[in-house]
Amino acid sequence: MLNLIIFGAPGSGKGTQSEELISKYGFDHVSTGDLLRAEMKAESELGKTAKQYIDNGQLVPDSLIIDMIEKVLEEKKPQKGLILDGFPRTVAQAEALGELLAKHDTRVHAVIDLQVPEEELIDRLLKRGLESGRSDDNLETIQKRLHVYHAQTAPIAEYYASKGTHNAILGTGSIEDISHRISEVIDKL
Ligand code: ATP
Ligand code: MG
Repeated sequence: MLNLIIFGAPGSGKGTQSEELISKYGFDHVSTGDLLRAEMKAESELGKTAKQYIDNGQLVPDSLIIDMIEKVLEEKKPQKGLILDGFPRTVAQAEALGELLAKHDTRVHAVIDLQVPEEELIDRLLKRGLESGRSDDNLETIQKRLHVYHAQTAPIAEYYASKGTHNAILGTGSIEDISHRISEVIDKL
């Protein structure tokens, strides 16, 4: 059983590469962004609170995210592996995840850090915004999200580098090329 984190800036391809891994390896997948969007659609209390942050390009508070992920991890019983997509996004979340996994006698096996130049990220997110209908895929919010990523999320790379689990992967080129680069890391685990 492998626990993998798909990491990277907004628009780096976390969701796309997660889909590739699900079909290649049969891993289970949890995306906090998808979970939050489902809560927003259902207009739950959590969804209404999350919307105020998401539409503003900010992170949803750690306590809400950690509670949400704790519940999901209790329910999911992954057989082959678990892909965490969009979580953790702060060092506090990374620490909470470590504790949660330790309770289940497991750990983070690898972090896949998808690296894409900023201009390409903006380009991809603006394109996605034309079809996704996502309220946060507009230029103003994209710029805020990138800023939040550098300030609050990018430091996690150092956190996992110090544990020896961080892997930088070039996130440009075709979906297949990127997926192949990720497989090279996974196949060595
Ligand atoms: P990608 O395009 O690579 O899928 P993304 O940043 O565009 O990444 P999501 O991961 O779907 O999109 O997240 C959308 C928003 O949901 C974030 O901007 C943030 O407000 C909120 N969010 C998602 N995960 C977390 C988290 N772990 N902690 C705090 N907020 C989160
Ligand atoms: Mg996503």
